[in-house]
Amino acid sequence: MLLLRNVTYSINGRKILEEINMRFKEGMSYSILGPNGAGKSTIAYILMGVIKPTGGKVLLDERDITPLSITERAKLGITLLWQEPARYDGITVEEYLTLGGKLSVDKEEVREVLEVVGLPYELYHSRFVDKSLSGGERKRVELASILLLKPKYAILDEPDSGLDITAGELIDDILDHLRRIGTTVILITHHEDIARKTEFSYFVCGGKVIRKGFSDEVVEYYKRACGKCPLLEVVSDGH
Ligand code: ADP
Ligand code: MG
Ligand code: MG
Repeated sequence: MLLLRNVTYSINGRKILEEINMRFKEGMSYSILGPNGAGKSTIAYILMGVIKPTGGKVLLDERDITPLSITERAKLGITLLWQEPARYDGITVEEYLTLGGKLSVDKEEVREVLEVVGLPYELYHSRFVDKSLSGGERKRVELASILLLKPKYAILDEPDSGLDITAGELIDDILDHLRRIGTTVILITHHEDIARKTEFSYFVCGGKVIRKGFSDEVVEYYKRACGKCPLLEVVSDGH
């Protein structure tokens, strides 16, 4: 189980997260739902070790992993899909997915995960992971890399953003695949239709958890709040 216990995060004297408590049990799927600026990506970074909380702890199976780096956490099976994936010049999709051959997977597995994310192997394996890929294609490659790693925990920061109209079906396929291999999913989104696809949800805004429970229930509450933060008058960071 991955757990956030009383996590706070402040920067330049501003509180971004306040007393966040979340638990992610093995093999279950969760969403973190909230408007832009709610603090969702900050939570993802704290889970992955990109930043350290100002207060509180990150626990993995009761072990305090707060001091661990990104690499150390990755070795423990925690992965993050970045909201804005990076691009790499001169590296092909297949090289990227297999970590330049360091990941021991065969071509069939690469083919399978590319298929799941809607990228036919023959058309994409030798493409470069650079500007020639659209944002959506780049995101699909990143999702395929997470599937291939078979992580214990997959934190997906807005996997639906930058994708086209078929995003809903793609997310279904990805969640099905991750469930089959027993990965715990932590899906970050501001779309209620996407949050509904997971079992449990946390509604976050103004850096606080204001509702948690079965996704249907939390989504109903979110809809009543019109996707806005009942704690704040204006919630917008312009994207
Ligand atoms: P979300 O992912 O829910 O849109 P974020 O976690 O990215 O929200 O950001 C939460 C709030 O914290 C936003 O108001 C954002 O501007 C602010 N914030 C995040 N990182 C920093 C930073 N490094 N410096 C200052 N403010 C930040
Ligand atoms: Mg945002
Ligand atoms: Mg974000």
